[in-house]
Amino acid sequence: MRAFTDCHVHFRQDRMAGMVIPYSARCCERVVAMPNTDPPIHSAEEVRAWHAMYQQLAGRCCDVRMTAKLLPRTTPQDVREVAATGLAVGYKLYPAGATTNSDDGIPAEWIDSPPDRLMGVVQAISDCGLALLHHGEHPHEFCMLREDRYLLFMELLYRSFPKLRMTLEHATTEAGVAFAEARADRVLATITPHHLLLTLDDVVGDRIKPDHFCKPIAKRPRDRAALRRAAGTHAALGSDSAPHPQESKYWDRGCAGIFNAPVLAEVVRMLELPESFTRLNAARFYGLPETTGRQLEFSEGPWCPGRKCGDVTPFMWDRPMPHGQVWSILYRNHEGRIGPRRIVPLHIWWGQNQYHSPNQWLLTAHDLDKRATRTFATANVIEWLHMR
Ligand SMILES: [Zn+2]
Repeated sequence: MRAFTDCHVHFRQDRMAGMVIPYSARCCERVVAMPNTDPPIHSAEEVRAWHAMYQQLAGRCCDVRMTAKLLPRTTPQDVREVAATGLAVGYKLYPAGATTNSDDGIPAEWIDSPPDRLMGVVQAISDCGLALLHHGEHPHEFCMLREDRYLLFMELLYRSFPKLRMTLEHATTEAGVAFAEARADRVLATITPHHLLLTLDDVVGDRIKPDHFCKPIAKRPRDRAALRRAAGTHAALGSDSAPHPQESKYWDRGCAGIFNAPVLAEVVRMLELPESFTRLNAARFYGLPETTGRQLEFSEGPWCPGRKCGDVTPFMWDRPMPHGQVWSILYRNHEGRIGPRRIVPLHIWWGQNQYHSPNQWLLTAHDLDKRATRTFATANVIEWLHMR
């Protein structure tokens, strides 16, 4: 199986970024980072600064591409400056209030009836050759119908801007993937691993499962079947890996978002998703060079990510996978010696030990060459997936 392009990932910020980025870097050769950080990634200067931070944490084997957040105050000049960085694939449109950190997004009224101001900015996005990425949910609609209603807005833009390329991020419905397929010349649907696995029953069908709660919400079995068909043809992988600490997930206003990066490679393998979905369709849509398609290596036996990654619960933590990915890393040990290591991770945690202080992200893993459990400092990993 070849390394992926992940078209949709939340790398977050501060300490959290140091924990989540290695999980993507170990199996992705290219990622598209989302801009709904706090503060948001909006200006050209912010795109450059966040890119530098993310790229450094991801290492040189993972090509980090950026998005800028479309805000009501965004101007055509902002768009031209962001395009000139050469680091962004497009703008991300969040309807205000649709999901985490989106209160500053585009008002619902603008989606029903786009003002000239918004249309002028979309024209600039099209003229600059950037894509417009949609969180495709109309926030004033019933939650099961939000995506369907949002497609009316996408259709309007598709007709109004004959060169504009758009994505329907994390498509969840039969109508959503059919919309993209019928306009595949300029529209791409991205699909998450969790929407390929879950239906609404897995969220609220029995007892409530906060770990399965995300936006858009998982839908009907027939929608899931349509997503699986689309993953075999025109769609692209966008994990929407979105970590939240357990304390903000498990309370009476729990956050939407599923942290699936720790099991991304394992789920793709388990579902036997094709390379067109995991890598090739994204490069074609964004007009980017194909990634090298480095091979990923897997362990023989079953593997489980464990209950906690840092203070986040990963997706499928209680469901053993048939195989776990072997991480190949170039590592500097506490004596300063650099060498390749092959490990199967057990968990990443914040703390210190006799070799590594002060407090930092430590990775406890099974070292396949030494046949022992060892703890590694993530800061001493020189490459997460070094060249073979
Ligand atoms: Zn997202």
